Amino acid sequence: MQFKYICNTCGQLYNPDTHIFRCRCGGLLDIKKTNFRFSKSDIMTSEWSIFRYLKSMPFDEKFCFWKDISMGEGLSPLVMLDKDLPNLMVKMDYMMPTLSFKDRGAAVLISKAKELGIKKIIQDSSGNAGTSIAAYAGRAGIACDIYVPENTTAKKVNQIAYHGANVHLIEGSREDTAKAALEAVEEGDGFYASHVYNPFFYEGTKTFVYEIFEQLDGNMPDALIIPTGNGTLLLGAYYGLKELFTMDLIDRIPRLIAVQSENCAPIYKAFKQDKMLVDAADNIGTIAEGIAIAEPKRGKQILEAIRATGGEVILAPENKILDTRKYLAKKGFYVEPTTAATFAAFFEYNNKSDNKSNEKFIIPFCGAGLKV
Ligand SMILES: *Cc1c(COP(=O)(O)O)cnc(C)c1O
Ligand SMILES: [Zn+2]
Repeated sequence: MQFKYICNTCGQLYNPDTHIFRCRCGGLLDIKKTNFRFSKSDIMTSEWSIFRYLKSMPFDEKFCFWKDISMGEGLSPLVMLDKDLPNLMVKMDYMMPTLSFKDRGAAVLISKAKELGIKKIIQDSSGNAGTSIAAYAGRAGIACDIYVPENTTAKKVNQIAYHGANVHLIEGSREDTAKAALEAVEEGDGFYASHVYNPFFYEGTKTFVYEIFEQLDGNMPDALIIPTGNGTLLLGAYYGLKELFTMDLIDRIPRLIAVQSENCAPIYKAFKQDKMLVDAADNIGTIAEGIAIAEPKRGKQILEAIRATGGEVILAPENKILDTRKYLAKKGFYVEPTTAATFAAFFEYNNKSDNKSNEKFIIPFCGAGLKV
């Protein structure tokens, strides 16, 4: 397989060895693959991590940096939440080296950075992406500056620092944090290893659906319920599903149902108003901080993915999040509030719709309760 970066705004192509993080026009970069081929026999079944799907990723044959960087991330269990809810499976994506699904993306992005010979990276995050990038950068021997909003949970800030990264606490909103990181990048301070901008992150998150494909022997569920802030899991899932579908490994693409916080819902608004672009929303405060992204940079692509799959956007009721967290803990799953929010939204949605059609759902448990 060969690839180029392609600007998703103006279509400009860039070579694979470029260090730029966005197009000259300001657009974000995607990966355009040529000669993509993947069959079941391409799964490296003796590799017990997301890199068993390496042949679906845009690396050349000799690429081996991942071997020193992988921590066995991925291959999360797919289990039933409750025997009385036979149509619902949960995928245990907090069973990861740093306890969130972000490790899927970070493992691939940092492996790519190593290949490019990067010595220092910069990234901004509201928490889990920062802990994940910091961990993998430390493991790869790459210096790392992480920018986080100053109100980020102390546990996550400490974890980032323990992994050896410099933590920059930024006053103001999540968007102010992104601006501060971007300024440092523009001053030449390091390579922008952003989970939002860098398309290799999505080559990692897409393994979420490759695993479901293997776990269910190709019988995909009717819908995936995906918490959505910047859309790194939603878009990764969409790209993976499209690949599996084009390769004839699955015969239909599940609906992608995005979950937003009712207190910060830019994608929900744009979706309901039939817009193509996402306007910045207000963030009036939510304990589902993992999805509280007022200005999702890939908003247009997120809307496209939801619409292309016949999906929709649903809201997490703020006043049900903590009770849902307790409910899930009683079932054995100790998750962070953002994950409880995903579940709360699904419950409300499922009760309303009555699920007469007997649809099958999968929900990811994205973040561990111990991190918050
Ligand atoms: C990052 C994260 C999300 C949201 O992912 P996006 O890429 O911002 O859409 C949801 N839940 C948890 C636990 C996360 O860490
Ligand atoms: Zn462009």
